[in-house]
Amino acid sequence: MQQIIVQKYGGSSIKDTTRIKNTANRIKSYQNQGYQVVVVVSAMGKTTDTLLSLAKEISTTPSKRELDVLLSTGEQISIALLSMALNEIEIDTISLTGSQCGIKTNSVHSNARIENIDSERILTELNKNVVIVAGFQGINEKGDITTLGRGGSDTSAVALAAALKAEKCEIYTDVDGIYSADPRIIPNAKKLDTISYDEMLEMAKLGAQVLHPRSVELAKNYQVKLEVKSSLNNNPGTKIIGEIDMEKIQIRGITSENSIARISITRVPDKPGIAYKLFKTLSDNSVSIDMILQNLTHENVNDISFTTPVEELNKVSPIVKDFAKNIGAEDVIIKDNVSKISLIGTGILGHGEIASMFFETLSDLKINIEMISTSETKISCIIDKSHSLIATKKLHEIFFES
Ligand code: ASP
Ligand code: MG
Repeated sequence: MQQIIVQKYGGSSIKDTTRIKNTANRIKSYQNQGYQVVVVVSAMGKTTDTLLSLAKEISTTPSKRELDVLLSTGEQISIALLSMALNEIEIDTISLTGSQCGIKTNSVHSNARIENIDSERILTELNKNVVIVAGFQGINEKGDITTLGRGGSDTSAVALAAALKAEKCEIYTDVDGIYSADPRIIPNAKKLDTISYDEMLEMAKLGAQVLHPRSVELAKNYQVKLEVKSSLNNNPGTKIIGEIDMEKIQIRGITSENSIARISITRVPDKPGIAYKLFKTLSDNSVSIDMILQNLTHENVNDISFTTPVEELNKVSPIVKDFAKNIGAEDVIIKDNVSKISLIGTGILGHGEIASMFFETLSDLKINIEMISTSETKISCIIDKSHSLIATKKLHEIFFES
Protein backbone atom coordinates (compact mmCIF):
# COMPACT_ATOMS: atom_id res chain seq x y z
CA MET A 1 0.00 0.00 0.00
CA GLN A 2 1.21 3.48 -0.80
CA GLN A 3 2.07 5.74 2.12
CA ILE A 4 0.17 8.94 2.70
CA ILE A 5 1.97 12.23 3.27
CA VAL A 6 0.20 15.39 4.38
CA GLN A 7 1.85 18.64 3.37
CA LYS A 8 0.67 22.03 4.53
CA TYR A 9 1.67 25.15 2.62
CA GLY A 10 1.31 28.45 4.46
CA GLY A 11 0.43 31.78 2.93
CA SER A 12 4.03 32.65 2.08
CA SER A 13 4.47 29.44 0.04
CA ILE A 14 1.58 30.36 -2.24
CA LYS A 15 1.60 34.13 -1.99
CA ASP A 16 1.57 34.63 -5.78
CA THR A 17 1.17 32.52 -8.91
CA THR A 18 4.93 31.96 -9.24
CA ARG A 19 5.09 30.47 -5.75
CA ILE A 20 1.94 28.45 -6.46
CA LYS A 21 3.64 26.94 -9.51
CA ASN A 22 6.80 26.19 -7.51
CA THR A 23 4.71 24.55 -4.83
CA ALA A 24 2.98 22.45 -7.49
CA ASN A 25 6.40 21.20 -8.67
CA ARG A 26 7.37 20.27 -5.14
CA ILE A 27 4.14 18.33 -4.70
CA LYS A 28 4.77 16.54 -7.96
CA SER A 29 8.20 15.42 -6.74
CA TYR A 30 6.59 13.78 -3.70
CA GLN A 31 4.08 12.02 -5.88
CA ASN A 32 6.98 10.77 -8.00
CA GLN A 33 8.53 9.34 -4.83
CA GLY A 34 5.46 7.14 -4.54
CA TYR A 35 3.46 8.98 -1.89
CA GLN A 36 -0.26 9.57 -1.93
CA VAL A 37 -0.25 13.31 -1.28
CA VAL A 38 -2.78 15.32 0.70
CA VAL A 39 -2.08 19.03 0.54
CA VAL A 40 -3.54 21.53 3.01
CA VAL A 41 -3.28 25.19 2.13
CA SER A 42 -3.70 28.54 3.83
CA ALA A 43 -4.94 31.68 2.17
CA MET A 44 -2.52 33.38 -0.22
CA GLY A 45 -0.10 35.80 1.46
CA LYS A 46 -1.95 38.29 3.63
CA THR A 47 -5.42 37.52 2.23
CA THR A 48 -6.94 36.74 5.62
CA ASP A 49 -5.78 40.09 7.03
CA THR A 50 -7.19 41.89 4.00
CA LEU A 51 -10.55 40.18 4.35
CA LEU A 52 -10.62 41.02 8.05
CA SER A 53 -9.97 44.70 7.42
CA LEU A 54 -12.73 44.77 4.83
CA ALA A 55 -15.10 43.45 7.48
CA LYS A 56 -13.86 46.03 9.99
CA GLU A 57 -14.57 48.82 7.50
CA ILE A 58 -18.19 47.78 7.60
CA SER A 59 -18.64 46.86 11.22
CA THR A 60 -16.61 47.08 14.41
CA THR A 61 -18.45 44.03 15.71
CA PRO A 62 -19.12 41.81 12.70
CA SER A 63 -21.08 38.62 13.30
CA LYS A 64 -18.67 35.76 13.92
CA ARG A 65 -20.70 33.46 11.73
CA GLU A 66 -20.41 35.87 8.81
CA LEU A 67 -16.72 36.40 9.51
CA ASP A 68 -16.22 32.67 9.11
CA VAL A 69 -18.10 32.71 5.81
CA LEU A 70 -15.84 35.55 4.71
CA LEU A 71 -12.46 34.32 5.93
CA SER A 72 -12.95 30.78 4.66
CA THR A 73 -13.00 32.14 1.11
CA GLY A 74 -9.26 32.86 1.32
CA GLU A 75 -8.39 29.17 1.50
CA GLN A 76 -10.93 28.36 -1.18
CA ILE A 77 -9.07 30.58 -3.64
CA SER A 78 -5.84 28.76 -2.81
CA ILE A 79 -7.14 25.23 -3.36
CA ALA A 80 -8.55 26.06 -6.77
CA LEU A 81 -5.41 27.82 -8.03
CA LEU A 82 -3.04 25.18 -6.71
CA SER A 83 -5.19 22.49 -8.22
CA MET A 84 -5.02 24.23 -11.62
CA ALA A 85 -1.24 24.59 -11.31
CA LEU A 86 -0.92 20.85 -10.69
CA ASN A 87 -3.18 20.04 -13.61
CA GLU A 88 -0.87 22.11 -15.82
CA ILE A 89 1.98 19.73 -15.00
CA GLU A 90 -0.12 16.64 -15.61
CA ILE A 91 -1.11 15.81 -12.06
CA ASP A 92 -4.69 14.80 -11.40
CA THR A 93 -6.15 16.64 -8.47
CA ILE A 94 -9.30 17.37 -6.61
CA SER A 95 -9.77 20.42 -4.44
CA LEU A 96 -12.01 20.09 -1.40
CA THR A 97 -13.34 22.63 1.10
CA GLY A 98 -13.42 21.73 4.79
CA SER A 99 -17.02 20.66 4.56
CA GLN A 100 -16.51 18.61 1.40
CA CYS A 101 -13.82 16.57 3.08
CA GLY A 102 -15.77 15.95 6.25
CA ILE A 103 -14.00 18.16 8.80
CA LYS A 104 -16.65 18.39 11.51
CA THR A 105 -16.20 21.04 14.20
CA ASN A 106 -18.11 22.46 17.14
CA SER A 107 -20.01 25.70 16.65
CA VAL A 108 -17.62 28.20 18.23
CA HIS A 109 -17.34 30.51 15.23
CA SER A 110 -13.85 31.95 14.66
CA ASN A 111 -12.29 29.51 17.14
CA ALA A 112 -13.88 26.16 16.38
CA ARG A 113 -12.43 22.83 17.43
CA ILE A 114 -12.34 19.80 15.20
CA GLU A 115 -14.59 17.08 16.57
CA ASN A 116 -14.02 14.43 13.94
CA ILE A 117 -13.02 13.87 10.37
CA ASP A 118 -14.88 11.58 8.07
CA SER A 119 -11.93 10.55 5.93
CA GLU A 120 -13.78 8.34 3.45
CA ARG A 121 -14.00 10.88 0.66
CA ILE A 122 -10.32 11.76 0.87
CA LEU A 123 -9.26 8.11 0.96
CA THR A 124 -11.32 7.34 -2.13
CA GLU A 125 -10.03 10.37 -4.01
CA LEU A 126 -6.42 9.58 -3.08
CA ASN A 127 -6.52 6.48 -5.27
CA LYS A 128 -6.50 8.68 -8.33
CA ASN A 129 -5.75 12.24 -7.23
CA VAL A 130 -3.62 14.56 -5.22
CA VAL A 131 -6.17 15.88 -2.74
CA ILE A 132 -6.00 19.60 -2.02
CA VAL A 133 -7.79 20.67 1.13
CA ALA A 134 -8.72 24.15 2.30
CA GLY A 135 -7.14 24.55 5.74
CA PHE A 136 -8.48 26.54 8.68
CA GLN A 137 -12.11 25.60 8.07
CA GLY A 138 -14.72 23.03 8.87
CA ILE A 139 -18.43 22.60 9.18
CA ASN A 140 -20.62 22.46 12.28
CA GLU A 141 -23.64 20.33 13.11
CA LYS A 142 -25.97 22.73 11.32
CA GLY A 143 -23.88 22.66 8.16
CA ASP A 144 -22.49 26.15 8.72
CA ILE A 145 -18.90 27.06 7.85
CA THR A 146 -16.60 27.47 10.84
CA THR A 147 -12.94 28.49 11.14
CA LEU A 148 -10.36 27.22 13.60
CA GLY A 149 -8.70 30.46 14.73
CA ARG A 150 -5.83 32.40 13.16
CA GLY A 151 -3.06 30.12 12.03
CA GLY A 152 -5.46 27.18 12.17
CA SER A 153 -4.51 25.50 8.92
CA ASP A 154 -1.59 23.84 10.74
CA THR A 155 -4.20 22.21 12.92
CA SER A 156 -6.22 21.12 9.87
CA ALA A 157 -3.09 19.46 8.48
CA VAL A 158 -2.13 17.61 11.63
CA ALA A 159 -5.73 16.52 12.25
CA LEU A 160 -5.88 15.11 8.72
CA ALA A 161 -2.53 13.38 9.14
CA ALA A 162 -3.85 11.73 12.31
CA ALA A 163 -7.18 10.75 10.74
CA LEU A 164 -5.53 9.34 7.60
CA LYS A 165 -2.73 7.66 9.59
CA ALA A 166 -0.26 9.46 7.36
CA GLU A 167 3.40 8.53 7.36
CA LYS A 168 4.27 12.15 8.16
CA CYS A 169 3.04 15.73 8.13
CA GLU A 170 5.21 18.48 6.68
CA ILE A 171 4.53 22.14 7.41
CA TYR A 172 6.02 24.43 4.75
CA THR A 173 6.80 28.03 5.51
CA ASP A 174 9.33 30.68 4.45
CA VAL A 175 11.97 29.92 7.08
CA ASP A 176 14.03 26.74 7.38
CA GLY A 177 12.38 25.48 10.55
CA ILE A 178 12.09 26.33 14.22
CA TYR A 179 14.75 28.71 15.53
CA SER A 180 16.17 29.43 18.96
CA ALA A 181 14.58 32.89 18.63
CA ASP A 182 12.67 34.80 15.98
CA PRO A 183 15.30 35.12 13.20
CA ARG A 184 13.77 38.42 12.08
CA ILE A 185 14.74 39.93 15.44
CA ILE A 186 17.80 37.88 16.37
CA PRO A 187 19.96 37.39 13.27
CA ASN A 188 22.17 34.88 15.13
CA ALA A 189 19.23 32.63 15.95
CA LYS A 190 20.06 28.98 15.38
CA LYS A 191 17.91 26.50 13.56
CA LEU A 192 17.00 23.49 15.68
CA ASP A 193 17.28 20.03 14.12
CA THR A 194 14.83 18.53 16.57
CA ILE A 195 12.54 19.68 19.35
CA SER A 196 10.14 17.70 21.53
CA TYR A 197 6.37 18.06 21.33
CA ASP A 198 6.27 19.58 24.82
CA GLU A 199 9.00 22.09 24.10
CA MET A 200 7.39 22.98 20.79
CA LEU A 201 4.05 23.44 22.50
CA GLU A 202 5.60 25.93 24.92
CA MET A 203 7.36 27.75 22.07
CA ALA A 204 4.12 27.95 20.07
CA LYS A 205 2.06 29.13 23.03
CA LEU A 206 4.70 31.64 24.08
CA GLY A 207 4.76 33.43 20.79
CA ALA A 208 6.84 31.48 18.26
CA GLN A 209 4.55 32.05 15.31
CA VAL A 210 5.52 29.13 13.13
CA LEU A 211 3.00 26.59 14.42
CA HIS A 212 -0.55 26.86 15.72
CA PRO A 213 -0.33 25.55 19.32
CA ARG A 214 -3.33 23.25 18.85
CA SER A 215 -1.57 21.52 15.96
CA VAL A 216 1.31 20.59 18.26
CA GLU A 217 -1.08 19.31 20.91
CA LEU A 218 -2.76 17.12 18.31
CA ALA A 219 0.54 15.89 16.93
CA LYS A 220 1.59 14.89 20.42
CA ASN A 221 -1.69 13.13 21.22
CA TYR A 222 -1.72 11.16 17.97
CA GLN A 223 2.06 10.80 17.63
CA VAL A 224 2.06 12.45 14.22
CA LYS A 225 5.56 12.81 12.77
CA LEU A 226 5.81 16.53 12.18
CA GLU A 227 8.45 18.54 10.34
CA VAL A 228 8.63 22.28 9.71
CA LYS A 229 10.61 23.24 6.59
CA SER A 230 11.00 25.91 3.97
CA SER A 231 9.22 25.85 0.64
CA LEU A 232 11.92 28.10 -0.81
CA ASN A 233 14.81 25.60 -0.69
CA ASN A 234 15.55 21.94 -0.02
CA ASN A 235 17.23 22.33 3.36
CA PRO A 236 16.30 19.87 6.08
CA GLY A 237 13.78 21.39 8.50
CA THR A 238 13.09 20.90 12.19
CA LYS A 239 11.62 17.58 13.29
CA ILE A 240 9.20 17.62 16.19
CA ILE A 241 9.68 14.39 18.05
CA GLY A 242 8.44 12.47 21.07
CA GLU A 243 11.41 11.15 22.94
CA ILE A 244 13.82 13.42 24.68
CA ASP A 245 16.60 12.82 27.19
CA MET A 246 14.98 14.09 30.38
CA GLU A 247 18.22 14.00 32.37
CA LYS A 248 19.97 16.40 30.07
CA ILE A 249 19.28 20.10 30.19
CA GLN A 250 18.16 21.16 26.75
CA ILE A 251 17.73 24.85 26.12
CA ARG A 252 15.69 25.35 22.98
CA GLY A 253 14.64 28.91 22.57
CA ILE A 254 13.78 32.40 23.72
CA THR A 255 10.44 33.94 22.86
CA SER A 256 8.88 37.31 23.51
CA GLU A 257 5.25 38.30 23.43
CA ASN A 258 4.62 41.99 23.22
CA SER A 259 0.87 42.52 23.22
CA ILE A 260 0.20 41.81 26.83
CA ALA A 261 -1.51 43.79 29.55
CA ARG A 262 -1.05 43.39 33.28
CA ILE A 263 -3.98 44.03 35.58
CA SER A 264 -3.51 44.38 39.32
CA ILE A 265 -6.20 44.67 41.94
CA THR A 266 -4.70 46.12 45.08
CA ARG A 267 -5.64 45.52 48.71
CA VAL A 268 -8.10 42.75 48.07
CA PRO A 269 -9.59 41.39 51.33
CA ASP A 270 -7.75 38.19 52.25
CA LYS A 271 -10.54 35.65 52.55
CA PRO A 272 -11.56 32.41 50.89
CA GLY A 273 -13.49 32.56 47.64
CA ILE A 274 -12.24 35.90 46.34
CA ALA A 275 -9.94 34.53 43.64
CA TYR A 276 -12.63 32.05 42.68
CA LYS A 277 -15.20 34.82 42.21
CA LEU A 278 -12.85 36.97 40.17
CA PHE A 279 -11.69 34.27 37.78
CA LYS A 280 -15.15 32.73 37.53
CA THR A 281 -16.51 36.11 36.41
CA LEU A 282 -13.69 36.48 33.91
CA SER A 283 -14.17 32.99 32.54
CA ASP A 284 -17.95 33.47 32.30
CA ASN A 285 -17.09 36.39 30.04
CA SER A 286 -14.66 34.23 28.00
CA VAL A 287 -11.67 36.38 28.92
CA SER A 288 -8.39 34.64 28.27
CA ILE A 289 -6.07 34.82 31.25
CA ASP A 290 -2.44 33.93 31.38
CA MET A 291 -0.17 34.44 34.39
CA ILE A 292 -1.77 34.89 37.79
CA LEU A 293 0.03 36.19 40.84
CA GLN A 294 -1.21 36.79 44.37
CA ASN A 295 0.98 38.27 47.04
CA LEU A 296 0.39 39.05 50.64
CA THR A 297 1.35 42.66 50.99
CA HIS A 298 -0.28 43.82 54.19
CA GLU A 299 -2.31 42.37 56.99
CA ASN A 300 -5.57 40.90 55.77
CA VAL A 301 -5.21 42.17 52.24
CA ASN A 302 -3.61 40.80 49.07
CA ASP A 303 -2.72 42.13 45.68
CA ILE A 304 -3.91 39.97 42.81
CA SER A 305 -2.39 40.44 39.34
CA PHE A 306 -2.92 38.66 36.08
CA THR A 307 -2.05 39.12 32.43
CA THR A 308 -4.30 39.09 29.41
CA PRO A 309 -3.85 39.90 25.71
CA VAL A 310 -4.06 43.67 25.11
CA GLU A 311 -7.01 43.15 22.75
CA GLU A 312 -9.05 41.88 25.69
CA LEU A 313 -8.61 45.07 27.73
CA ASN A 314 -11.80 46.78 26.58
CA LYS A 315 -13.75 43.80 27.76
CA VAL A 316 -11.73 43.09 30.91
CA SER A 317 -11.30 46.46 32.55
CA PRO A 318 -14.97 47.24 33.30
CA ILE A 319 -15.44 43.71 34.66
CA VAL A 320 -12.45 43.99 36.96
CA LYS A 321 -13.26 47.52 38.11
CA ASP A 322 -16.76 46.43 38.99
CA PHE A 323 -15.46 43.43 40.84
CA ALA A 324 -12.93 45.51 42.79
CA LYS A 325 -15.62 47.94 43.89
CA ASN A 326 -17.98 45.16 44.99
CA ILE A 327 -15.44 43.44 47.18
CA GLY A 328 -13.99 46.61 48.63
CA ALA A 329 -10.54 46.42 47.06
CA GLU A 330 -8.47 49.60 46.93
CA ASP A 331 -7.68 50.09 43.28
CA VAL A 332 -7.24 48.55 39.83
CA ILE A 333 -3.96 49.26 38.08
CA ILE A 334 -3.79 48.48 34.39
CA LYS A 335 -0.54 48.43 32.48
CA ASP A 336 -1.01 47.85 28.77
CA ASN A 337 2.67 47.82 27.82
CA VAL A 338 4.32 44.75 29.23
CA SER A 339 6.14 41.89 27.53
CA LYS A 340 6.55 38.29 28.42
CA ILE A 341 10.03 36.92 27.84
CA SER A 342 10.45 33.17 28.09
CA LEU A 343 13.21 30.61 28.00
CA ILE A 344 12.06 27.21 26.80
CA GLY A 345 13.66 23.82 27.16
CA THR A 346 13.70 20.58 29.10
CA GLY A 347 15.02 20.12 32.61
CA ILE A 348 15.20 23.88 33.16
CA LEU A 349 13.52 23.97 36.52
CA GLY A 350 15.46 21.07 38.00
CA HIS A 351 18.66 22.99 37.51
CA GLY A 352 18.64 26.17 39.54
CA GLU A 353 21.54 27.64 37.62
CA ILE A 354 19.43 28.16 34.49
CA ALA A 355 16.92 30.27 36.40
CA SER A 356 19.68 32.16 38.13
CA MET A 357 21.45 32.91 34.82
CA PHE A 358 18.15 34.11 33.39
CA PHE A 359 17.50 36.48 36.30
CA GLU A 360 21.13 37.59 36.40
CA THR A 361 20.95 38.62 32.74
CA LEU A 362 17.90 40.79 33.42
CA SER A 363 19.49 42.19 36.54
CA ASP A 364 22.68 43.13 34.65
CA LEU A 365 20.48 45.05 32.24
CA LYS A 366 18.76 46.72 35.23
CA ILE A 367 15.41 45.39 34.04
CA ASN A 368 12.76 45.02 36.69
CA ILE A 369 10.88 41.71 36.75
CA GLU A 370 7.19 42.29 37.37
CA MET A 371 5.96 38.70 37.42
CA ILE A 372 7.58 35.27 37.14
CA SER A 373 6.14 31.91 36.21
CA THR A 374 7.85 28.59 35.70
CA SER A 375 7.06 25.06 34.60
CA GLU A 376 9.06 21.95 33.72
CA THR A 377 9.68 23.39 30.27
CA LYS A 378 9.89 27.16 30.72
CA ILE A 379 10.74 30.25 32.71
CA SER A 380 8.72 33.35 31.86
CA CYS A 381 9.05 36.89 33.15
CA ILE A 382 6.83 39.89 32.66
CA ILE A 383 8.89 43.03 32.07
CA ASP A 384 8.28 46.51 30.71
CA LYS A 385 7.74 46.36 26.97
CA SER A 386 10.42 48.96 26.29
CA HIS A 387 13.05 46.40 27.43
CA SER A 388 11.73 43.47 25.43
CA LEU A 389 14.17 43.65 22.53
CA ILE A 390 17.32 44.18 24.53
CA ALA A 391 16.34 41.44 27.00
CA THR A 392 15.68 38.97 24.17
CA LYS A 393 18.98 39.81 22.49
CA LYS A 394 21.04 39.53 25.66
CA LEU A 395 19.36 36.30 26.81
CA HIS A 396 19.96 34.78 23.39
CA GLU A 397 23.60 35.80 23.58
CA ILE A 398 24.04 34.26 27.03
CA PHE A 399 22.21 31.00 26.35
CA PHE A 400 22.96 30.35 22.69
CA GLU A 401 25.97 32.31 21.59
CA SER A 402 28.51 31.62 24.30
N1 ASP B 1 -5.42 31.92 6.68
C1 ASP B 1 -5.60 31.73 8.08
C2 ASP B 1 -4.87 32.80 8.87
O1 ASP B 1 -4.16 33.60 8.34
C3 ASP B 1 -5.21 30.37 8.54
C4 ASP B 1 -3.77 30.03 8.38
O2 ASP B 1 -3.03 30.68 7.65
O3 ASP B 1 -3.33 29.06 8.98
O4 ASP B 1 -4.99 32.84 10.07
MG1 MG C 1 0.87 29.85 10.18
